[in-house]
Amino acid sequence: MASVQQERLRSLMERLKLREMAERYEALAEEASQADWTYPDYLERLLEAEAAAKQERTVAIKTRMAHFPFLKTLDAFDFSFQPSIDRKAIKRLSALTFAEEGENVIFLGPPGVGKTHLAIALGLEAIQAGHSVYFATVQEMMGALAQADAEGQLAAKLKQYLKPTVLIVDEIGYLALSDWEATQFFQLVSARYEKGAMILTSNKSYGDWGEVFPDQVMAAAILDRLLHHSTTVNIKGESYRLKEKKKAGLVGTTSSEDENGKRTD
Ligand code: ADP
Ligand code: MG
Repeated sequence: MASVQQERLRSLMERLKLREMAERYEALAEEASQADWTYPDYLERLLEAEAAAKQERTVAIKTRMAHFPFLKTLDAFDFSFQPSIDRKAIKRLSALTFAEEGENVIFLGPPGVGKTHLAIALGLEAIQAGHSVYFATVQEMMGALAQADAEGQLAAKLKQYLKPTVLIVDEIGYLALSDWEATQFFQLVSARYEKGAMILTSNKSYGDWGEVFPDQVMAAAILDRLLHHSTTVNIKGESYRLKEKKKAGLVGTTSSEDENGKRTD
């Protein structure tokens, strides 16, 4: 049965929202007396447990708010399957200087080579480090902006895309943008320029971005801002999705025609 003091401690901890401490302090006190911990040792262990639980909760909330389509980490990425990717470059990116400095990361390559996986994995790293992240495909973003525009909320919606430390825009290139959509995208890129980091993915090489945006001039203006402070990871290789099927002999092999190269400037 809980003593009066235990009741008081518990209620104090709950009032201070020290949920993990309230949960753990008795068991830890037991351990402390058995192992002869000093008072500061005990306090440190207790505070560590509280801090770890808080960090876990924050990460969980930020991960939900990031709106990822799936959760994949860098550890889960098989670099040996995709030798065109410079593992060290990805490691450098995972140090998150790009996020702190408002720089961009662009993954280029054919379908299934891991562009979205790597974008999400870097997003998760950023969240672990305390940053806010938001993920949207171009299609989702354009749908949301068009709806906001119809409701007279366009400015507010654009602001929402300016807020997160890292904005991930997936699948540039599958959908040719209308004049209006391209203008919104240009506004967004201009507004985030040198202020907020972006991670972009595209199945089209930069030379073909003129097909995505209404004209070459617009594409050049967007690329000019995007690439000024950026790292491009050009992935040339086989689709991971087809790997298992190929193993089973269900489909033939194809190779990507994307040029390989890395640009960091
Ligand atoms: P893309 O965005 O380039 O079309 P995805 O990142 O969506 O490709 O990858 C397709 C699927 O294959 C995802 O489930 C992803 O986790 C997985 N995948 C791709 N490349 C790898 C890899 N090298 N190692 C492990 N899983 C991979
Ligand atoms: Mg993808």
